Amino acid sequence: MKLSKMLFKSLRETPSDIELESHKIMIKSSLIHQASSGIYSYLPLAWKSLRKIEQIIREEIDNVGGQELRMPVIQPKSLWDKSGRSISMGQELFNLNDRRQKPFVLAPTHEELLTSIVKEMIYSYKSLPQLIYQMQTKLRDEPRPRGGLLRVREFIMKDAYSFDLNKDGLDESYENLSNAYMNIYDRCGLEVIKIEADSGAIGGKDSHEFVAISDAGEDKIVICNNCNYSANSEKASFSKKQYTIDSKLENQEFPTPGIKTIASLCKFAKVESYQTIKAMFYNSKDELICAVIRGDYEINELKLARAIGDPNIKPASNELLKKHDIPAGSASPLGKSIKVIADDSLLKANNYIAGANKEGYHIKNVNIGEDFTASIIEDISQIPDNAQCSKCNKDLSFKKAIEVGHIFKLGTIYSEKFDANYLDINGKSKTIEMGCYGIGTGRLLAAVIEQNHDKNGPIFPKSISPYDLIISPIKYENKIIKEYSDKIYDLLKSNKFDIVLDDRKESPGVKFSDADLLGFPIRLIISEKLIEQNMIEIKLRNSEESIKIENKKLIDYLKK
Ligand SMILES: [Zn+2]
Repeated sequence: MKLSKMLFKSLRETPSDIELESHKIMIKSSLIHQASSGIYSYLPLAWKSLRKIEQIIREEIDNVGGQELRMPVIQPKSLWDKSGRSISMGQELFNLNDRRQKPFVLAPTHEELLTSIVKEMIYSYKSLPQLIYQMQTKLRDEPRPRGGLLRVREFIMKDAYSFDLNKDGLDESYENLSNAYMNIYDRCGLEVIKIEADSGAIGGKDSHEFVAISDAGEDKIVICNNCNYSANSEKASFSKKQYTIDSKLENQEFPTPGIKTIASLCKFAKVESYQTIKAMFYNSKDELICAVIRGDYEINELKLARAIGDPNIKPASNELLKKHDIPAGSASPLGKSIKVIADDSLLKANNYIAGANKEGYHIKNVNIGEDFTASIIEDISQIPDNAQCSKCNKDLSFKKAIEVGHIFKLGTIYSEKFDANYLDINGKSKTIEMGCYGIGTGRLLAAVIEQNHDKNGPIFPKSISPYDLIISPIKYENKIIKEYSDKIYDLLKSNKFDIVLDDRKESPGVKFSDADLLGFPIRLIISEKLIEQNMIEIKLRNSEESIKIENKKLIDYLKK
């Protein structure tokens, strides 16, 4: 490829409205072009890199038994009605009608369609397990696209789906894919860690994210430097402090005029926040839910949503509270026949102060299990900044990270909805166990650039660099230099190197800074003086030094 003919325009100035390094670099070095908010063209340089990333993914997924297919982006909405996600995904799902007014969606993921395919094609235990995947465009109407390729509305994803006989089979598939993912990141030159994750809108139980630690990331993750526990902060557990005293005391109502918050209650009653119960009220499918937590912690609504199995919970309206005769400020589950979800912190102290459900009154010495009961008691707490590890009790630290992969054990959520069953060895019908596994390739590329760049541009790892190297001749317009450079170019091409020759009439300064901006691992420098010495200069993109070698040794050098 001759640089003069390449679709490349180096931007000297940094676009001022862009905050993330990878985004700046991708714009400056002609990798991407914005069509609309969160919608980009991958220009030829990025596309070459993405195809290499895809090939690495393909090899690793095939290696654990994957079969590649291709499903349509546009799908009948009825499939999504069947799974319930046409509602639960809300406005993130792109909707459209065809000319006959039949409703369709533009798919953000493919569980629905693939499960319905598998239902039609698999009927015996003999055909399981299956691992199916594709590289496909996905669409998601993100409310706030940002950061170049980090959060977009159209993206390419490798999505894989496993179909197994039972939970043990699913565990095995999950482990295989997890290992394949680590190989993929390693081969792409990206450092990642695997963390426990929230399964969000997809549903399911076990879920892990693969994240690249980076200040550009939107995920907040928790790491224990002692025992290596790591998790998304929305999911992370932590050690809750124990304050229980032995003797349980009698309930005692007392007036608390004008007291509406935990802070004012503590001041008024001269107690610590861990001696109080905070009650929050939610609407889940028009039912009033009371979530209670110890006063020194805050409720994490994602954990709460997972605990009650409703991703669409919202704060209860005043009308709903009024209907149950619950006064804000003195509210609690006491004496109310409503569903109660309790944070497990309430088991680690006792004799709490709670609202009396009577305007201006609280009650002392309230205990869970005695004065009120909860149908679910588990961790629904936000992780505080100074939290300790739930496994080893040492201090946890927080980091920002980019999610570059997400895997889920779906279990039978989709197979039940789509009747994806099989007959076991005894002819008995069983439900298929599913897992799903996703890597966004554009985001992976952006994360690689976040981790591998300097002030001059990207530093592509060899495995995913758009080209292997660039030849930067000084004074290419000089006949001797042109002939010599063309000879080297042809020699390298015949040796299967993928190369760019900078054939432009530009100063060495411009040529070298553009070579850095392109970010290929190797730059070859050719000049009149070097030709006289039968030498060629080699500069590695990830090093400040350059070396000179005899030109006849060039191929051997590059091949090692
Ligand atoms: Zn730990």
